[in-house]
Amino acid sequence: MNQSSYIILGAGASGLLLAYRMSLDSYFDDKSILIIDQVKDKGNDKTWCYWEEGEGEWDELLTKKWPKVFFGSKDFTETLDISPYSYKMIRSEKFYHKLWRSIELKPNITFVEDSVKTYTEIDNRVKVVTNKSTYFGLKLLNSILDKTMYETQQKYPVLQQHFVGWFVKTKTDCFDDSIATFMDFNVPQNGNTRFMYVLPIDKNIALFEFTLFSKDLLEHSEYEEAIKDYLKEKKITDFEILEKENGAIPMTSFKFEELNSYNILNIGTAGGWTKASTGYTFYNTSKKTKDLVSFLKNEDDLSVFAKRTKYWFYDLNLLDVLAKNNEKGSLLFASIFKKVNVKTILKFLGEESSLKEDLKIITSVSPMPFILSIVKRFLRIKL
Ligand SMILES: Cc1cc2nc3c(=O)[nH]c(=O)nc-3n(C[C@H](O)[C@H](O)[C@H](O)COP(=O)(O)OP(=O)(O)OC[C@H]3O[C@@H](n4cnc5c(N)ncnc54)[C@H](O)[C@@H]3O)c2cc1C
Repeated sequence: MNQSSYIILGAGASGLLLAYRMSLDSYFDDKSILIIDQVKDKGNDKTWCYWEEGEGEWDELLTKKWPKVFFGSKDFTETLDISPYSYKMIRSEKFYHKLWRSIELKPNITFVEDSVKTYTEIDNRVKVVTNKSTYFGLKLLNSILDKTMYETQQKYPVLQQHFVGWFVKTKTDCFDDSIATFMDFNVPQNGNTRFMYVLPIDKNIALFEFTLFSKDLLEHSEYEEAIKDYLKEKKITDFEILEKENGAIPMTSFKFEELNSYNILNIGTAGGWTKASTGYTFYNTSKKTKDLVSFLKNEDDLSVFAKRTKYWFYDLNLLDVLAKNNEKGSLLFASIFKKVNVKTILKFLGEESSLKEDLKIITSVSPMPFILSIVKRFLRIKL
């Protein structure tokens, strides 16, 4: 029977990045690595953005980077210089190609295009059943998200960052391409946290993404109507749509790490690597896959990889508030952006802040909903 040292389920951002980092480390040269995904060539299925101080590992792949961001709402509006950070954009096709080029040079790494049906841990090894075959391995790194795990529990709220985006090209120059619109809450809120996210790639090409942080998805036409209205309000009428993208990223403090075991580790969104309060995942995945490669070289018990930090609690508290008062998002984010330096906000959201910086964020918002949520959670009572 053929048995791999490692099986990686899913060759998206986290699975492929992990395989790439393993391909660059000679420690893994004598280990057999099997990657399984239902689709190999995914093209530009995602546009990833993240912020970073100075230069970074993926700079050669960037489509664009911005030194300034715009925040807009009826309570606070400002264009903010984020140096020494910049906001960076990568389109997924270039990223996948770079990683595959390195992975495909390694004879010990194989890829199978197939759909995974189940995986289990038995007799101190793992078994993966796909549509076409069955595979065995010593360790399993899984990035296939099983939504039922968090959708069927009641303990932690589940919101989604859901969006539809249009890449728009205008006939004349319309955009200031030095500014990325991080959040523009100047759209009807309709009882939710709704904003427009705008990324100008050029003076006449920009991605307009209508985004919500809320529990339920909308009809597809509602997102598109919101983009049309926003463009009209900005007097952008003569344009063509180059491409569209959409997505729904889970926002939850569900303890994904409790699904891990001695031989199975969940990674990527499936492993809780998505920041629960924002949906950002890419930069964290880049950091975590580095940590994971070092970990795999030194540890056998995969269940001890994931560590919970203070940010888990902060995110839970914010999600408790947003789940109960979804209409408060605009005011809440405006209050933070008005009172706290944007670099501190980025540090906090990037989970690199000190306790002193955390306190600046915490004290920038009206405390009552947060206190009530904490009390409710500790006493398990309905307030
Ligand atoms: C459109 C979009 C835009 C995003 N933009 C950003 C952003 O700007 N910044 C940011 O930080 N995050 C962003 N995210 C969130 C996050 O970075 C991505 O979702 C990221 O791809 C998560 O990586 P992952 O490895 O967990 O999942 P994925 O990249 O989705 O990888 C999972 C893989 O599993 C495979 N798979 C699924 N089911 C099966 C099966 N049964 N059998 C075999 N294979 C299977 C899929 O084909 C896929 O390749 C975005 C998400 C979306 C959807």
